[in-house]
Amino acid sequence: MHPISNYIMSEAKGTTSTTQFDVFAKVTKYDHEQIMLCQDNNTGLKAIIAIHNTVLGPGLGGTRMWNYKTEEEAINDALRLSRGMTYKAAISGLNLGGAKAVIIGDPATQKSEALMRKFGRFVENLGGKYITAEDVGTTTKDMEYISMETEHVVGLPEILGGGGDPSPVTAYGVYMGMKASAKAAFGSDSLAGKKIAVQGTGKVGLHLIELVSKEGAIVFATDIFDSGLKIAADKYKATIVKPEEIFSLDVDIFAPCALGAILNTENINTLKCKVVSGAANNQLLEETTHGDMIKAKGIYYAPDFLINAGGLINVYSEYTGYIKERAFSQTENIYNTVLDIYKKSEADNINTQLAAIHLAEKRINDHMLLKSTY
Ligand code: NAD
Repeated sequence: MHPISNYIMSEAKGTTSTTQFDVFAKVTKYDHEQIMLCQDNNTGLKAIIAIHNTVLGPGLGGTRMWNYKTEEEAINDALRLSRGMTYKAAISGLNLGGAKAVIIGDPATQKSEALMRKFGRFVENLGGKYITAEDVGTTTKDMEYISMETEHVVGLPEILGGGGDPSPVTAYGVYMGMKASAKAAFGSDSLAGKKIAVQGTGKVGLHLIELVSKEGAIVFATDIFDSGLKIAADKYKATIVKPEEIFSLDVDIFAPCALGAILNTENINTLKCKVVSGAANNQLLEETTHGDMIKAKGIYYAPDFLINAGGLINVYSEYTGYIKERAFSQTENIYNTVLDIYKKSEADNINTQLAAIHLAEKRINDHMLLKSTY
């Protein structure tokens, strides 16, 4: 394990500049337990494993491979995402902690069996404190390579006894969160006739469109690529709109299923929907400011880490012995938790994202108290 430098070199327009980057200030802010830098000259591996909290169990979180512009960006992503995993596991009632890994590099050109296996050895060195899984830029095939070096990996192909692609379970959880939000906002959880705008017709977005269409919802969809949009239009009769139009559509529900940090001061002001309920992680650019803005507009915001937990529930089920039906039925409970969060948000007069964080932290703190009485 390499010591973390507090100076990060960043390349800009051909020149190299040095910027102060205080890693300990970052990990102290959100109370991370451990950060591991993994590097290997032979394979070109450069990775960061961030373990946020292991009070409830081993930290589980996917490995993201991305062409980060700077090392600071990569570390920030690992820190932010690992914290989100802690809350996601805690609020879902799983005996798991939160962690995340990022590999710096272009997944299209820099990935190899050797690199993934070397990364697997670093995961093995942590002795089960971190369990990895698939994420943006990694695939079930990569998990297969990692599994050659460590047993602390989930998200394996179904043929190898894994749960396969978690997206259908994730979409089901988002659908449950959306129905609960509709119940709170409109008095009924039926989505029949509701106008729903979906941002991102990728793996989760398309499964979600299928579920809401079956219930008779009217779908509007956008994406920056055509392949998913074509399926949405041909199969589910979705109306296709331009990416910049999606925020201000006159719809009942907005479902962000593309990237994170997409809700900011400017576009929240243009929202006409009564519910925001989607799969993307970290949708609010800033949890307090933008969560408060959404609440002040009377919009029901279903906390992202709560309603997109189906994928995590699916891989946890794999860890404890995979049964597909159990993963789906546990995911269904998201409906009740979302209703609890709306009540807590009203009672405590805080936005729903913070209400969900408080509920997750309560479970972790209760568990710490329980441990101290052994
Ligand atoms: P995906 O990559 O299959 O789909 C994302 C889609 O968003 C792509 O089609 C992409 O072209 C589109 N997109 C990107 N930028 C866009 C923009 N500016 N406007 C419109 N569309 C844009 O990913 P996915 O697996 O469907 O996941 C969607 C989101 O849900 C991600 O934020 C992911 O982190 C989160 N999530 C996914 C899972 C899962 O099980 N797959 C679990 C939890 C959270």
